[in-house]
Amino acid sequence: MTGRIPHLSSPGAFTVRKRDGNTARSRLGLVIRAILFDLDETLFDHRRAVAHAATRWTDSVCPGHELLLEAPALWLDLEDKHVPAWQAGECSFAEQRRRRLREFCRRLGLPQPADPDAAFAAFLTHYESAWAAFPDVHETLAALADLDEPPALGVLTNGAPDQQEAKLSRLGLLDRMEVVLTPDALGAFKPDAECYRKAAAKLGLAPEEVLMVGDNLVLDAAAPAQAGMTGVWLDRYRAEPCPRSPSITRITTLRELPGVLDALNSPRPWPWTPGATTGTTAGATAGGTIGAAAFAADLRMAGRGELALVPVS
Ligand SMILES: [Mg+2]
Repeated sequence: MTGRIPHLSSPGAFTVRKRDGNTARSRLGLVIRAILFDLDETLFDHRRAVAHAATRWTDSVCPGHELLLEAPALWLDLEDKHVPAWQAGECSFAEQRRRRLREFCRRLGLPQPADPDAAFAAFLTHYESAWAAFPDVHETLAALADLDEPPALGVLTNGAPDQQEAKLSRLGLLDRMEVVLTPDALGAFKPDAECYRKAAAKLGLAPEEVLMVGDNLVLDAAAPAQAGMTGVWLDRYRAEPCPRSPSITRITTLRELPGVLDALNSPRPWPWTPGATTGTTAGATAGGTIGAAAFAADLRMAGRGELALVPVS
């Protein structure tokens, strides 16, 4: 039988097709056994560190610069512009840093650095001095560790391995993680489906047994869901307008994760009425309220092969 789930009925949503509930995967009774976290803007407060570093560095080059307050946003914009060139293999990691710094100076009217690598190293000194975890991180990891069957924890990041492990170490998180996975280890960047499949394999699990959570709707929620994981979007800054996505769970703080996990791993009878679930909710989207637990249940059923999510053409 095929039909639309009411609370998923939005443009680009999915129809829902009930499969034979007695499939091999459903018999396995898959549950979430691991959580993979994105790092920047999920566990690590990257914006705060960039704000500190961009203003301090600019002020060191041009004290009292009239555009000083615009420096952090410009730096973040230039990350989005230049980092993809490295990810696409078009330049080295060091070169995308040089490109960022040169354009940053040009856009702010600062003198071009004679030695961009040295100038970037000075920026990094400020950046690293402001490294910090978000305030909900340690308490959430402690709550997850206190569960009867605590999930394995790991990090899946598109960043460079040395810097990302250094951040985790500074934040006191490295020892909590069973794996820290980067494109160097996986041979693929998020949102390549191979990235998520290999990450699950590194944990010795099927993708359906892994929950991925992060601040990027595509990289950390939608794409992992397409690869078989459960995708959870961490919308810390409550995006306005809030994009509707029928295939992910939205949370606004990591503190919601234990409840989401509980909902995902709770046995659920079939037939089940979508949207009728109570309990943990992720909050409202601009286009309508989406209960996290209900969404999570949708995805778990899809992961077990009990439902197939089929894009509406
Ligand atoms: Mg991120």
